[in-house]
Amino acid sequence: MFAEVIVDIAHSDVDKIFDYACGDDIVRGMRVAVPFGNGVTTGFVMRVKEATDVPPQKLKRVLRREEDFPSLNEEALMLAETIAARYRVSMALTLRLFVPAEMRTGKVSTRYRTVIKLARETEISDRAKRQRELYDFMRDNGEADAAFLRERFGSAVKALLDSGVLVSEKRRVFRDPYRDIGGENVARKLTPSQQNAVDTVKRTDKTVTLLHGVTGSGKTEIYLTLIADVLKAGKTAIFLVPEISLTPQMLSQLRARFGSMAAILHSGLSAGERFDEWMRLREGSARIAIGARSAVFAPIENIGVIVIDEEHDGSYSSESAPRYNTFDIAYLRARHNGCKLILGSATPSVETYRRAKEGEFELVKLPERINARPMPAVRIVDMRREVRKGNATAFSAMLRERLENCLEKGNQAILFLNRRGYSQTVICRDCGYVASCESCDVALTYHSDENVLKCHYCGANYKLPPACPGCGGHHLGYVGTGTQRVVGDLKKMFPSARILRMDVDTTSGKEGHYRILKQFSEHAADILVGTQMVAKGHDFPQVTLVGILDADMSLHFADYRSGERTFQLITQVAGRSGRAQEAGEVVLQTYDPENYILRFAAQYDYEGFYEHEISMREATMFPPFAKIVRVMITGEDETETLSALKSVYEKLQKIYAENPDNFLFFNRMHAPIKRIRNKFRYQVLMRLLDGRVLKSIYAVCAEEKHRNVLVYVEENPANLS
Ligand code: ADP
Ligand code: ZN
Repeated sequence: MFAEVIVDIAHSDVDKIFDYACGDDIVRGMRVAVPFGNGVTTGFVMRVKEATDVPPQKLKRVLRREEDFPSLNEEALMLAETIAARYRVSMALTLRLFVPAEMRTGKVSTRYRTVIKLARETEISDRAKRQRELYDFMRDNGEADAAFLRERFGSAVKALLDSGVLVSEKRRVFRDPYRDIGGENVARKLTPSQQNAVDTVKRTDKTVTLLHGVTGSGKTEIYLTLIADVLKAGKTAIFLVPEISLTPQMLSQLRARFGSMAAILHSGLSAGERFDEWMRLREGSARIAIGARSAVFAPIENIGVIVIDEEHDGSYSSESAPRYNTFDIAYLRARHNGCKLILGSATPSVETYRRAKEGEFELVKLPERINARPMPAVRIVDMRREVRKGNATAFSAMLRERLENCLEKGNQAILFLNRRGYSQTVICRDCGYVASCESCDVALTYHSDENVLKCHYCGANYKLPPACPGCGGHHLGYVGTGTQRVVGDLKKMFPSARILRMDVDTTSGKEGHYRILKQFSEHAADILVGTQMVAKGHDFPQVTLVGILDADMSLHFADYRSGERTFQLITQVAGRSGRAQEAGEVVLQTYDPENYILRFAAQYDYEGFYEHEISMREATMFPPFAKIVRVMITGEDETETLSALKSVYEKLQKIYAENPDNFLFFNRMHAPIKRIRNKFRYQVLMRLLDGRVLKSIYAVCAEEKHRNVLVYVEENPANLS
């Protein structure tokens, strides 16, 4: 027999099939160890066959199998081929997506324990007192842990094992990361809208259904019902959430509902735990895979439903190779299994919503909260007026007053700050003017190294204005107040309030988020101050006030999606307020109170926002009406990186010259962040009418082989920094 093997080396030079001789214990999908070059490496068996063209003197043998089962199932192998071809990445890199890293690196292994059982009844003489006691114990208990028995009965254990009265047995143990998490299993009676959603998903002949339901409309209950039904039918499910570690409530709900049927895969687990959760899925003892985007590769068969919660979330596109899009993979799997794919969000991405409106996806709307609880009222505060009144703090008078009121009543508040590090925008504190590009209608980004403003779309440079072009004033500034300063200010204003801060700095460690959220949910704090993390699907019943300190920040990111992101963020944060009996409110602070995005968000008018946004994208030819494609060229040596850039650029230029009508934009430049982790970053930026030339672009990049420079393609990247 011969095995076709892909060696587990990411380098493009070895991205092909190698034949090895093997025995009949080797099957398709297994990981094996093979001799390669002067050493030994692992590989994936793609096929086993009867004959090979490799001459016998050149043929080497498979050394051993790494596991005694195929770690890749048929679906995984099929998917891997599609993904490798689609994104033009090596098979080795692609196949790695399907097995846990800890399995490949051999850092963890299966854990066993030994149990001892009674094999047969017998008579034991009274002289062997210890053996007699052991025998009686085993008669009462049937079986027990070997280590425990040895400690208690000493050498009697060996004696009875030798005489065949007892037998020992090795048993697989699974590390259980969620031993301590539990909750009440409350399968609620669905509301008519929830029932309608479930029925529609089952009835439709479309593969994809978009659940567009306002925050608090009970989407989770719909997912859980669909998953429970699928389990009953003997099938499996995948449930994707952006950051499971951020939502302990979701965890305990899932745990209570599905017990050990649910395997939870996320980065907060130890290597051993992750490996065991994966194994439980592979073996079928768990049938629901829950986790962030990588759970879309779960090793399960016979899938009955796939759910992508918060489908608009940026974490669903992978930013390291292979740069796949979670929806694409989920869709392939749904088609392969003939099952439904559910997308859920209160703020669907513009592209998804368009596909639903055009009839490609089924669309279900849940316009009301559970029990018709009102959406919290949003008050927009004009921060320019605060400045004029001499208030230089991050808190408007209104927010201060509402906070005071909230604390007095013994309720809780969440304060949100949209601080995403590096890129800074110049804004006028008097009139709200924001420096933006003349031809692209996106905000400019300040580049401190060259002291200029740049457009990340067309590459144009602008000088820093000496005074505000809007009002001539001299209060131009860079936006940005940190969470830390806000907490400091709060302490001065409300000395007795208990305050928690949640951002990247305070949530390190395995249970960082969990600890903070738990404290807050137990009302051990009155105010939670944080970044995007506080916007995620939390359900804190006592929160009646949400303050958005700087609604403008995300609007001014140099990205065609910044309006969409702002709308999503505001809606999501606002959705944390007033979820229980008491009505909630939201104070939204801005330097740009007339901004249409903020207006639509304050009225929870997704439809209005969408119509406005989509017509603007059509007029300016941005996605979904065009495709933004970026080829990134990064390397530690600038000269080498530049020469790679030149080579790529020239080849791409040919494609451009042959298809001028397909290009709306084509240029090379620095990436907005010139260097990250000591790597220089250059880019060729393209805006295309459609995907016609994509294949050629991928081909050009795949053939660029530089020793120390990385060249890769991004389609509509979630992040253009
Ligand atoms: P969403 O995910 O749409 O924001 P959730 O799923 O968090 O909304 O539900 C909002 C709240 O309503 C939760 O507290 C949940 O427990 C409750 N809930 C959901 N479905 C029902 C139901 N059928 N009956 C009563 N309460 C429900
Ligand atoms: Zn101004």
